[in-house]
Amino acid sequence: MSRDVLDQLKQQIPLLDSLRAQDWRPSWQLTGGRLVGLCPLHSDHKPSFLVDPGKSLFYCYGCGRGGDVIRFAEIYHQVKFPQALALLQQWRGLPPLLQHAAGFYRMQLHRHGEAIAYLHQRGIRSPELIEHLQVGYAPGGCLRGWLTQLGYPLPALRQAGLVSVAGYDAYMHRIVFPLECNLYGRSISTSAPPHRFLPAAKGGLYYWEQARSYPEVILVEGLFDYAALWQAGFQNVSCSLGNRLNTRQFRQLCDRPRTVYLAFDADSNGSGQRAAQCLSRSLRERGISARLVSLPEGHDPNSFFVQGGDATQFQSLLEAARP
Ligand SMILES: [Zn+2]
Repeated sequence: MSRDVLDQLKQQIPLLDSLRAQDWRPSWQLTGGRLVGLCPLHSDHKPSFLVDPGKSLFYCYGCGRGGDVIRFAEIYHQVKFPQALALLQQWRGLPPLLQHAAGFYRMQLHRHGEAIAYLHQRGIRSPELIEHLQVGYAPGGCLRGWLTQLGYPLPALRQAGLVSVAGYDAYMHRIVFPLECNLYGRSISTSAPPHRFLPAAKGGLYYWEQARSYPEVILVEGLFDYAALWQAGFQNVSCSLGNRLNTRQFRQLCDRPRTVYLAFDADSNGSGQRAAQCLSRSLRERGISARLVSLPEGHDPNSFFVQGGDATQFQSLLEAARP
């Protein structure tokens, strides 16, 4: 690959965007716009990771490593240069159009009582949680106008799946969660299909960056399950957005030795539990220890907490989880 192509790629993927996508946050800013925060490459307790967003370079005073966005991906994913390049090309973050859409949906959330009522009904009350998950609401009938005003042509909106062929907002009466490269929309009305994604790829595990450093990780199916656990104080949790993992999500779970607690839905048709069993076998084949969490019949982690379950009770379920 020529130097020009490499430089172009690096320009398209600023180091800071790639760090932010992994939930890195600076602890403070130095003069000249440089940022300092905890190092994602070693177990860091006082911020020693320096980022120069202008030059897209990093250096860590703790582990002594530094370089550009590709070097970062090499160390972080423990891969060689060509794979790091491939990963970066595959991942380019939420495109600006989807970022604008997500921002618009966030503005709508507090203007629509029915959206807040739905969140409450699903046990989501904490403003910090809503902020952390960047939850938004798609009322329908107004996104197209907003994005057009921002200068996006209609064909681009159609191609992203935000607007239907007929020209209407695709997401209507849906709670929206921004993902790595997609927007998930949960219908608040029972007459529409509950789960929807835009045509883009589902992406990796949800907030994997926060969970991956824990020796024990809880994996749930849905974002409302994730939200309930996070609100109950569990930080070592991630979500696969459905009970079938894609290759990337599976690889993420196997990226270092750990125990994975599979807290999938205990639905009456047994699909969640079957998927969990199947996944636990695949994980064990890769040397990852897996435990199956048994929720009360008919429950998922969200409904467990909504119906009065607390962190101590969930902790007991984790302790009782069988291999
Ligand atoms: Zn470091």
